[in-house]
Amino acid sequence: MTYTDKKPTAPGYYWYRSKYLSNGVVISVLPGFDGLSVFFFSDGREYRLKDCDGQFAGPIPKPVEEDDARTIDLSYVGTDGAIVKDVRPIHQLAGKYQCKNCGHVCTVNDMDANAGGADPEAYSNWICPKCGTWHESLESGWTKP
Ligand SMILES: [Zn+2]
Repeated sequence: MTYTDKKPTAPGYYWYRSKYLSNGVVISVLPGFDGLSVFFFSDGREYRLKDCDGQFAGPIPKPVEEDDARTIDLSYVGTDGAIVKDVRPIHQLAGKYQCKNCGHVCTVNDMDANAGGADPEAYSNWICPKCGTWHESLESGWTKP
């Protein structure tokens, strides 16, 4: 990766060095109101890409996931009032899921989570945002399309 006068043509993270500073900074190129914008973390401001006349290097590639050991705690209160322990590796929840009831495809982040339903003690993390079905678990209510 080397500096070039060519401006980025796609969103991503890039190195940027202005005409006046030899040290580069990492910036974020993102879609703006008037073409691409540049966000400077240093001052928290956004500028039009066409107004940035320094040099760019990038995009900086995304890290390769080798062994993501992080977990997420989805424990909940079961119908009997006892806590049901549910801790899973984050990577297991990645990707798209399809609702077994209506066929809606979405990610875990799109699913609704709520307490209530017929039994106010019960809790679901896997509610379909389209048909509203209250799935008991990710495995019982959703499939990988
Ligand atoms: Zn559904």
